[in-house]
Amino acid sequence: RLIFINMNKFQALGLGEDIIKAVNDMGFETPSEVQEKAIPILLNDDTDIVALAQTGTGKTAAFGFPLIEKIDHKSRITQGLILSPTRELCLQITNELKNYSKYISGLHTVAIYGGASISEQAKQIKRGAQIVVATPGRMQDMINRKMVDISNVEYCVLDEADEMLNMGFFEDINAILSHTPEDKNTWLFSATMPKEVASIAKRFMTAPIEITVGHKNTGSKNVSHEYYVVNSRDRYAALKRLADANPDIFSVIFCRTKRDTQKVAENLIGDGYNAAALHGDLSQNQRDLVMKSFRNRQIQMLVATDVAARGIDVDDVTHVINYQLPDEIETYTHRSGRTGRAGKSGVSMVIVSKSELRKIKSIERIIKKSFEKKEIPSGEEICQ
Ligand code: ADP
Ligand code: MG
Repeated sequence: RLIFINMNKFQALGLGEDIIKAVNDMGFETPSEVQEKAIPILLNDDTDIVALAQTGTGKTAAFGFPLIEKIDHKSRITQGLILSPTRELCLQITNELKNYSKYISGLHTVAIYGGASISEQAKQIKRGAQIVVATPGRMQDMINRKMVDISNVEYCVLDEADEMLNMGFFEDINAILSHTPEDKNTWLFSATMPKEVASIAKRFMTAPIEITVGHKNTGSKNVSHEYYVVNSRDRYAALKRLADANPDIFSVIFCRTKRDTQKVAENLIGDGYNAAALHGDLSQNQRDLVMKSFRNRQIQMLVATDVAARGIDVDDVTHVINYQLPDEIETYTHRSGRTGRAGKSGVSMVIVSKSELRKIKSIERIIKKSFEKKEIPSGEEICQ
């Protein structure tokens, strides 16, 4: 029933009850993109993976959740090794893992890093830690002193791989990995893919699955972003002005609901524009027809919901117009990605009320570009 329809999005990724409970405690509502992509793969396949995602995209949980699920909690052998560039990160990851696994008894995670007592860390390892989180330098040190046994490691995570290599840990990583079993799985997480990371992947990994998030999100270089501040009740008038000022417009106009989509399209048609609606209440036949007319340029302004527009791959769209901003700001990148394709330039416009201006800032952070604030063209400007 409802419960199933609304199945927690983390549950849908295949995570178990104990982690879901911890996720709820942490207040995570939806998986981030890298989590959505990586977690099902890591849970279900025994594979190497290269995951590229910007900082702050939730990579820790992307490898931490599946690692916790895969570890045998009953055995105290070290099965998971996470290498991370700094002691701060080691501690942070260790804390996160402890949070994630707080409803799972018998899981032990130990942090290994320089600048703290090595014998104390060795003692903790000796008690039996299924997961070890380490900086490469200290790890190498402990291996040399036979204070740690990583010969049974099944999962090796290279976190912030680009950073580790920047810091000159290539040789250490090399040496450490040579002490782990051939048939382990290596999970490499990195914000960027410089050639050193590529060479690590090539050297130590077998046919890794590659996932990339964020880069696409920063959107096409060819798209410029503009916003127009209007009173909410003037949205429709503003839309018409924008269309009038761009007579050759070939655009997708995004509304938040099916109802608004239908209404805006009907109003545009009533006012003599070449428009049509695309949303989930239309039959498949109707939708196909609308898309065909749009591709053929019989329709200049396609008014659509996000869901309906998902599959649109029409080149030469000149303008994306956000009649209303999406609820989730990430959706903005999908919308604006409908223009500026195939090397062409495009404009993504947002009609926004004063109270929503805050969202523009959040979007700028995500797309790593600034918006230009513009004025709705006046009737006279349009006539000239
Ligand atoms: P990265 O390693 O990619 O830089 P982190 O794993 O450190 O990112 O996560 C960044 C922040 O986002 C952390 O504070 C983390 O608790 C939080 N976070 C991670 N996943 C989610 C999520 N699904 N929902 C909300 N917050 C999240
Ligand atoms: Mg991280």
